[in-house]
Amino acid sequence: MSVRELVVLGTASQVPTRHRNHNGYVLRWDGEGILFDPGEGTQRQMLRAGVAAHDLNRICVTHFHGDHSLGLAGVIQRINLDRVPHPVAAHYPRSGQRFFDRLRYATAYRETAEIVPAPVDADGVVADTGAYTLHAARLSHPVESYGYRLVEPDGRRMVPERLAAHGIKGPDVGRLQRDGVLGGVTLDDVSEVRRGQRFAFVMDTRLCDGVYALADGCDMLVIESTFLDEDTALAEEHGHLTAGQAARVARDAGVGHLVLTHFSQRYTDPGEFERQARAAGFDGDLTVAHDLLRVPLPKRRP
Ligand SMILES: [Zn+2]
Repeated sequence: MSVRELVVLGTASQVPTRHRNHNGYVLRWDGEGILFDPGEGTQRQMLRAGVAAHDLNRICVTHFHGDHSLGLAGVIQRINLDRVPHPVAAHYPRSGQRFFDRLRYATAYRETAEIVPAPVDADGVVADTGAYTLHAARLSHPVESYGYRLVEPDGRRMVPERLAAHGIKGPDVGRLQRDGVLGGVTLDDVSEVRRGQRFAFVMDTRLCDGVYALADGCDMLVIESTFLDEDTALAEEHGHLTAGQAARVARDAGVGHLVLTHFSQRYTDPGEFERQARAAGFDGDLTVAHDLLRVPLPKRRP
């Protein structure tokens, strides 16, 4: 069975706390694993969360601040130590190439695995696997930052009642799917569009066009809410979002499941992030992330 879920490895901004590791998130998408923003301690959090180096096919880094990237050194060495047999793509802002290179070669180790750097320097598609396209969009932060958006192409679902009404069965179903038409019956007559799922990862940014473009129509949006609304000025100054800002983005974008994360250590009550997100008018599924949480992608929309 295909599994689509978010595995939360860490949820702290800037510095880890007693209860929160630096950032780190793995999106399990059918057979693939995409690691987002591995902060310090990610290798151990993967162990605790049951994610192996072999599970990773892709790494996406939004920007080169330590809480989003210091874990690259350990994770890349672990991928090599475990002799992961498949290539692992790595996306990150091209302006941070020197940071990526340093982290990749931070200490001596034996290279056995194929890490495939694919730096990002513009908005657009950064990978197309057939199963999904991965898009990047520029965010607004003191250092260059890109958010990511994964889009599954729309598919088609055959409707059994319509097939039966046209008397199409057995191998003819496959013929119709392949050729698009069979004896005057078209694919449209017997099937409906199955909307592809969309996931977005938005870290370390002020409100900007990229945030809205990434969030648009997402089944799941993982987004930073470093600050609470009373600290909006501080958020703007440091290039971050508040809980209310993130929730309004999700509301306006029609997000199915909103995951708030990347919390400042100044706050002690995670419940306040939820209250402010609800007060901002977001009424979909809402998760205030904590370490080692697993959040399944919502069911397909009709
Ligand atoms: Zn951060």
